[in-house]
Amino acid sequence: MMLSLSAGGGARAFLKNRFFLIVVGLAAVVLALIVHGSHVAGRSYMHEASEQAGTTLRLAVSALDGHLRRFEALPALIADHDDVEALIVDPANPALRAATNLYLKDINALLKSSDIYVMTMDGMTIAASNFDSDTSFVGENFSYRPYFQEAAVGQQSRFYALGTTSAKRGYYFSSPIEIGGTIFGVIVFKVDIDGIEASWGDGDSRIVVSDPQGIIFMTGTPRWLYSSFLPLTPERLANTKASRRYSDAVLRELPVQGAKDGDHAMLSISEEGADKEFLFLSQPMPEAGWTVAVLMDTASVRAQAQIATIVAVLLVCLAFLGGAILVQRRMRLAERIKLQAEAQENLERRVEERTADLARVNGQIKQEIAERRLTERRLRRTQADLIQAGKLAGLGQMSAALSHEFNQPLAATKTYADSAALLIERGRPGEASDNLRRISALIDRMASISRHLRNFARKPEEKLSVVSFDDVMRDTLEIVDARLRAADAALRVEMDTPPPVVLAGAVRLQQVLVNIITNAADAIEGLEDRRIIVSAGRSDDGRVVITVRDHGPGVPAAIRERIFDPFYTTKGVGKGLGLGLSISYNIVKDFGGSLSVTDHPEGGAVFAIELTSADAAIGRAAE
Ligand code: ADP
Repeated sequence: MMLSLSAGGGARAFLKNRFFLIVVGLAAVVLALIVHGSHVAGRSYMHEASEQAGTTLRLAVSALDGHLRRFEALPALIADHDDVEALIVDPANPALRAATNLYLKDINALLKSSDIYVMTMDGMTIAASNFDSDTSFVGENFSYRPYFQEAAVGQQSRFYALGTTSAKRGYYFSSPIEIGGTIFGVIVFKVDIDGIEASWGDGDSRIVVSDPQGIIFMTGTPRWLYSSFLPLTPERLANTKASRRYSDAVLRELPVQGAKDGDHAMLSISEEGADKEFLFLSQPMPEAGWTVAVLMDTASVRAQAQIATIVAVLLVCLAFLGGAILVQRRMRLAERIKLQAEAQENLERRVEERTADLARVNGQIKQEIAERRLTERRLRRTQADLIQAGKLAGLGQMSAALSHEFNQPLAATKTYADSAALLIERGRPGEASDNLRRISALIDRMASISRHLRNFARKPEEKLSVVSFDDVMRDTLEIVDARLRAADAALRVEMDTPPPVVLAGAVRLQQVLVNIITNAADAIEGLEDRRIIVSAGRSDDGRVVITVRDHGPGVPAAIRERIFDPFYTTKGVGKGLGLGLSISYNIVKDFGGSLSVTDHPEGGAVFAIELTSADAAIGRAAE
């Protein structure tokens, strides 16, 4: 027991550990996935940002290119103008100067350029579109500018710089003024660049234009102007100084650190005490002599990547939660199915048990039925035996009674006959005939017994008919009249009007009444009250009740059942046969009625014959 317990505990601990390991493993995998996912998301967003920056860069480059191209051919065109050519040949001519100044001013206004001016071969400006402004170039010498130096040797030149006189940045296009193959001077066309820059703004995508030394010349972020991406080495400073590209502007280094993020170049610039990270994309414009770059602030990209990571984490958490709920539901379902299966199994087991119980009970019942059948058979046999015994007993009783009843008169008859023969021999015929009379009387009695016995062989199936009580009573009175008179009895008949009618056999009913009235006469004989009352009436349940009441001693309760048995009599030998009530009982029964006896509360026996009323049969309603 202890062993199995500890084994169970070990298994549980093992399962727990396994579960813990699975959870930790899953968490590690999810963490790795999140880290990797965040990395991938970051790269993807950075790539997207890079493409966006690339587009911005391409747009900026083409805008700049388009802007510069518009003015490219103009200096050569203007150099061919007659006024310009005339002036360059005769630079001191005031009229030509004035005419050229006006022409340059007009054309400058027309072309919306910044300035147009003409220089002699020593770099002196002799005519300018801004001749009448405070910052007039006329009289200024720009021989140090590369655009002058290159044009002076016959080349078309370009240059961008901060104006030393105007202090305005511009893009310079220069062209030699050639007359008959000789260069007399240089014409310069300065284009304003402030307008382009204004559209760049200072947002997340910053556009900058830097010179080959890495110094920013144009930018939408004014604080970055004249800052350098590259260290300001003396060599770089000397290069810049010679051309006076930035006039007197103060140059400084941008606090920048370069880095790489995958395929992307990144820059970190300290601004207002914080490091800002930028995605850096650049494209050189060799014709313009500068490099255009786009610096895209990565803060929003990083934030987007972070949000995507958080959303992914949340989604993973949701998926986990969903998974957990699903697993829990499945576990619950499995539990429920298990419980149901157990319940089903339980039910089936109980059904099986009950079926077995029922089968057992069934078997018991079958056995009991078999036993009962056996008992019944035995009972029937016993009953049959009893009936047989009863019959034999009855037969024996009857034989005894009959031999008794017949032997006595037969013995007496023999005695009377013998003595009658002697009396005739002795010549005493009177006494002999007296004996013969006695013999005759004895034979009459035996005939009477024989007649009574015949009644047992009645026909119960004899048809019943409608019998009126008063008719039967009238015939009965005629028969019993002599007996009543002998007993000095007073018989009174009471009946309903109209007289009751019953379903019976008239003669047999009369036989029953004669028997009962004769018994009543026997009972009251010699007594003080010798009234016999016969009454017939209809009962509530549609039957007819005939009662015969006498004022005799009544029938003791102890023998009430037995008086209807054959040969039961209390009368002395030779007086009663004990067959009257027995026959009467059976006759009434054959009529579908009943015969019973009770004692009247005021004394005397009451015999009641209950019969079926024939009122309905003759269509007379009971009244
Ligand atoms: P029997 O009249 O030949 O004796 P019954 O069958 O008619 O035979 O009567 C059976 C017995 O019932 C009688 O012996 C008698 O004891 C009793 N009995 C019948 N009628 C009356 C009666 N009215 N009063 C008292 N006893 C009676």
